[in-house]
Amino acid sequence: MDGRSYNNDKYRFGFNGKEKEDGIGDGYDFGARIFESRLGRWLAVDPLQAKYPGWSPYNFVNNNPLVYIDPDGKDAEIVIDDKTKTIKISTKVILWGKDATKEAVGLIQAEINSTWNQSSLTYKDKESGITYNVEFDIQVELADGKEKVASEPWGALNPLNTNNFVEVDNKKIADANATDNTAAYTIGGDEGVFSTDPKFIKGVPHEIGHMLSLDHHYTFLGEDEAGWENNIMGALDGQEGASGAGDVEQKNIDPMVKPFVDKLNSLKITAEQHNDKVDKMKEMGELWVPAKKVVPTKLDDKIDDDNMDK
Ligand SMILES: [Zn+2]
Repeated sequence: MDGRSYNNDKYRFGFNGKEKEDGIGDGYDFGARIFESRLGRWLAVDPLQAKYPGWSPYNFVNNNPLVYIDPDGKDAEIVIDDKTKTIKISTKVILWGKDATKEAVGLIQAEINSTWNQSSLTYKDKESGITYNVEFDIQVELADGKEKVASEPWGALNPLNTNNFVEVDNKKIADANATDNTAAYTIGGDEGVFSTDPKFIKGVPHEIGHMLSLDHHYTFLGEDEAGWENNIMGALDGQEGASGAGDVEQKNIDPMVKPFVDKLNSLKITAEQHNDKVDKMKEMGELWVPAKKVVPTKLDDKIDDDNMDK
């Protein structure tokens, strides 16, 4: 219909949070392929279709909405599986430095297993009423599989910028502890220095919390905040002479997970809005009418050939 336009800035990052692609009908750019929202079809099959022969290449996320996001652009990945109601937070901690040995991997992994990886908490989303199981999968490994890797730039080991890099240097931590009580530390959210000395290793799970975007809850006078005395993000449990690293509790999970569940909720709403829009266009007989004059006839022919009636 002449002069009618569906342009709406709200839809720029509309369906599934993907940027709307101008110039090819009503496409959304998913990176690997473009979703044509007027047709409700992909303009190309999934490039990984050969890996999933059991699924039609025209499916979208196996017909199962999930969110696969990186909390702050690095550090970890969060997958929310809407079908199994599970949220999985995965990250790698890659060790390097003069005390980065296979033994150090085992010691540090054990601390992470007994805290984060063995926590079995849930997240109850107030908006949807859904309770999700929350699982952590934090794996420790040596840089490039080798012991005692020199302190070189590690860009090649971090192509997707989702790993954390930790120097293991027992003397460095012993020196830091002598001056200001430090048992381990994190730099910039995805780097740090740990020790495998039994006096300091209980500080490791607290630093992992920082790498998962959590703040700590103690004062610089060395006191835990009220209510955080037994928590992993308090300080005292991770210090010298303490018996344990503190517990992973619900108050650690909620702030970590909430932004992503909220985002999933907003995507679901957007998907419904998208379907409403397609239904309305169908009713109005506009579904096959190019929304913009820039759509070349040749492209429309291609869409007809490749995607319709299959
Ligand atoms: Zn801290």
